Amino acid sequence: MAAADGDSIANLLRKNKRLSRELSRMETVFNAIRSAIVVCDCAGEIIFANSYAGDLLGIGAADVSIFKLLPGMDAAVSDAARGSYALREFEISYPERKMLSAQIIPFDFGDGGTFALILNDVTREKLSTEERIESEKLSSLLNLASGVAHEIGNPLNSINIHLQLAMRRLKKLAEKLPGDGFVEGVRESVEICSSEVSRLDSIIENFLKALRPMRPDMADCDPIKPLAETLKTLDAELENLGVSVAVNVDAPLPTVYADANLLKQLYFNILHNAMEAMDAGGDITVRALADDDFVKISFADTGCGIDEDGMSKLFQPYYTTKTDGHGLGMTIIQAIVRAHGGKIDVESGPDRGTTVTVSFPRAHRRIRTLRQNAP
Ligand code: ADP
Ligand code: MG
Repeated sequence: MAAADGDSIANLLRKNKRLSRELSRMETVFNAIRSAIVVCDCAGEIIFANSYAGDLLGIGAADVSIFKLLPGMDAAVSDAARGSYALREFEISYPERKMLSAQIIPFDFGDGGTFALILNDVTREKLSTEERIESEKLSSLLNLASGVAHEIGNPLNSINIHLQLAMRRLKKLAEKLPGDGFVEGVRESVEICSSEVSRLDSIIENFLKALRPMRPDMADCDPIKPLAETLKTLDAELENLGVSVAVNVDAPLPTVYADANLLKQLYFNILHNAMEAMDAGGDITVRALADDDFVKISFADTGCGIDEDGMSKLFQPYYTTKTDGHGLGMTIIQAIVRAHGGKIDVESGPDRGTTVTVSFPRAHRRIRTLRQNAP
């Protein structure tokens, strides 16, 4: 009996060894494949990702949900669960802008079901030669600009430290020579330099933030709350300009799967452009409504409008018609919309005002619904 037990334990150990060998062989094969392979559970939690998936999607140790990495993936999975196999296309903006074709293979959608995802980079096939050149030109320009901005940051730090030092010495001098006009004058100049350095620092910080590839921190969110918050920060400026804002929301508006902070940045940029287009005052009408797939928010202004030439260059970085403009607002708007799997439409003409409409995928077809519907 003891000998038989010994045999079966030895057998099990042999089998175990063979299985681990096979597993490591499989992993080697998966890691050599130039397609991204990701296995997830039905809540989107990543169970396995081969190395190419790590590079393509920029998966880090803290990334657990495929739904956060691929906007619109949750809806694709629930479709796949109904019709078994599904082929979808996704556009990602992090770590690089890419078009991906995805094959979704559900294994079992009962409780604890999983699905495999095979992703291929189809950017080259999808973009026309012209678009590809444009996109490559844009990315090298952005790299150069962010490099320069970064380099400016270092001497700026050193200037800041020396200004603080000068200020400390001046304070000591002022104690020794109370009421001295000359010392007071120098102190004022140093203070102005310090505040200008902080301003420059925040310009560079924002600039780098705008240019860095963005990874949105997605969650179910009400798209109107960040709008209300943005309008509040613009309140005084709107009043000064004589611009009135009307907000019409089709209630109840469904939630979107989005990063609320990025939404605020998006609204701010759209509203600011509208305000700058109406230097003699005017109206901004915000409308929010939903269809089966998208929540659409439009911003209509009664400003100067955009001519044909402007429309064709609108999303080009550094395109601006303003003397103090930086021409990055529309680039940021487009990047935010893309990062959410959304769409942007602009309707305009000279003296006709401009309507910018952004659409975000609704959050209603989340995997939770699928679980509830599962038998
Ligand atoms: P900036 O605001 O710094 O010029 P943007 O990228 O935000 O850069 O906008 C680029 C250009 O697009 C603007 O200079 C302007 O000519 C045009 N534009 C954008 N939004 C509007 C608008 N609502 N009305 C009129 N022109 C606009
Ligand atoms: Mg702008």
